[in-house]
Amino acid sequence: MGKPFWETTALAAMSREQWESLCDGCALCCLQKLEDEDTGELFYTDLACRLLDLESTRCQDYQHRSKRVKDCLILTADEPGALAWLPRSCAYRRLAEGKELPSWHPLRTGDPDSVHAAGISARSLNPVSEREQAEPSLYLKLS
Ligand code: SF4
Repeated sequence: MGKPFWETTALAAMSREQWESLCDGCALCCLQKLEDEDTGELFYTDLACRLLDLESTRCQDYQHRSKRVKDCLILTADEPGALAWLPRSCAYRRLAEGKELPSWHPLRTGDPDSVHAAGISARSLNPVSEREQAEPSLYLKLS
């Protein structure tokens, strides 16, 4: 059997379908983040974007997300600066750093829930929607 596409195709050369399939659905990028002005350290919070469905950890309006949420970052391969805002577990960041996809990634397991079972997703932080709450109650430095 040949190698999977993510081992043979550069991020910038992937089809739209391949690119989208890399997202493991963790939704960590849909949590509000804060950057320490002095140290540059990045902290995740438990406050989720108002468009995030907390149960499925999927965007409720993926197609129009950047129109509805003005600071929603649309990831593209030619904007590597945005990757620094992603968790180290994120496939886009991992592949850009020359790493492999982890064993729990849905593309490896064939199971979209494997990201949750592995405890990687936002679900494990019990996030609250910014529709319900204004301030985070948890600040977490993700390694
Ligand atoms: S952090 Fe990466 S893998 Fe997780 S939801 Fe965002 S884009 Fe997808």
